[in-house]
Amino acid sequence: MRINSGYLADGRLTPRTPQGQVPVTETLNVRGHGHVYAVGDITDVPETKRAGYAMQHAEVVAGNIAAQLRGEKATAEYRAASDPMILLPLGPRGGVGQLPGPGGPDVLPAETVAEYKGADLFTGRFAELFGTA
Ligand SMILES: Cc1cc2nc3c(=O)[nH]c(=O)nc-3n(C[C@H](O)[C@H](O)[C@H](O)COP(=O)(O)OP(=O)(O)OC[C@H]3O[C@@H](n4cnc5c(N)ncnc54)[C@H](O)[C@@H]3O)c2cc1C
Repeated sequence: MRINSGYLADGRLTPRTPQGQVPVTETLNVRGHGHVYAVGDITDVPETKRAGYAMQHAEVVAGNIAAQLRGEKATAEYRAASDPMILLPLGPRGGVGQLPGPGGPDVLPAETVAEYKGADLFTGRFAELFGTA
């Protein structure tokens, strides 16, 4: 996968990694910037690039921005998932997946993948989030 970050090529915000990623701190600040954050695929967080992780990044960053707006320190930190997760539906009832478990990665049965994702591909969850349900 190629990171589409050419618009940062002049290096004025930050030097990118050789992979074109933006270096971030544990609080997901762009390294060297206390009020600039990065989330999602563009970050150099050492994990596979997933929408699910991008959403977790966003929660950390939203918390930190809210804290700074209240005049507090940004203390929420993101820790890269130790085990990769994936939900791969095959139609609304089939599929396979892997989620982190207490003793390492857990393989999910098709019914669980369908329940989490396959039945509506998260459309219900996002309709609720954006108030369009
Ligand atoms: C085929 C495929 C399947 C995937 N399946 C899954 C999956 O099942 N589950 C999962 O969790 N993840 C999956 N992913 C990964 C997931 O899509 C990404 O991790 C997620 O979209 C990252 O979100 P993002 O906001 O960081 O980046 P993006 O979703 O890529 O958003 C970046 C946005 O910035 C825009 N942009 C780029 N340059 C500029 C510019 N100069 N000016 C203005 N806008 C610009 C782009 O057009 C884009 O809309 C999949 C990815 C691919 C390619």
